[in-house]
Amino acid sequence: MAGSAIRLFVDFDGTAAHDDVGDSIFEAFLLPDLLKQRWHDYIIDEWKAGKISSFECLITECEHTRVTQDELNRHLDQRTLTPGFTKTVAYCKDNGIPLTILSDGMDYYIEYILKKHGIGDVQFKSNHMYFNNGSLGVKFPYEGKGCGRCGNCKRWHIDTLRQNGETVIYVGDGYSDRYAIRDADIIFARRDLTEYCLKHAIDFHEYNDFFDILSYLENGNE
Ligand SMILES: [Mg+2]
Repeated sequence: MAGSAIRLFVDFDGTAAHDDVGDSIFEAFLLPDLLKQRWHDYIIDEWKAGKISSFECLITECEHTRVTQDELNRHLDQRTLTPGFTKTVAYCKDNGIPLTILSDGMDYYIEYILKKHGIGDVQFKSNHMYFNNGSLGVKFPYEGKGCGRCGNCKRWHIDTLRQNGETVIYVGDGYSDRYAIRDADIIFARRDLTEYCLKHAIDFHEYNDFFDILSYLENGNE
């Protein structure tokens, strides 16, 4: 897409990272009784239905974990990035395309995984996780920047970072991207975000991995 200024925004869980890392943490470290009762599925369904905000969802999930830093790090060591993501980061760097990860997940695991894969300098905006006497805690550095339905308003970041005349490309995979895509010029979707776009008649490109994104950046959509 030579000749036009592009800015790329990328979701983290299930997009830059192959799977939803946040969900995997809760599935691994929530109190065992809650896992047996499928409490996590219930909370996620409530969030997807819009009955609770992502803000409320994350707070209650974190409060009900039991995990040490070592245990969490070992868990994160097993997580992988989506194929082609590190190459896309390198391409953007070489070609002056700003790339920002926008996540309604948490900084600790994003930073850990990016560093582990040698791309710790990628800019990201997320909520803040901390260890809290054997469980996890979460804070919201961007609280109040949006309408309150999300802990970290991706639309606010897009509106704040984009420069006049830029074409905004957004890459996502799920419900945490449903508001952000309203401000994007070009949308790449997979998994739940595909269904959302179809349901709401929103134009999108389907992708399997970041080699599809890289190909688009290199060649455009001709
Ligand atoms: Mg996601």
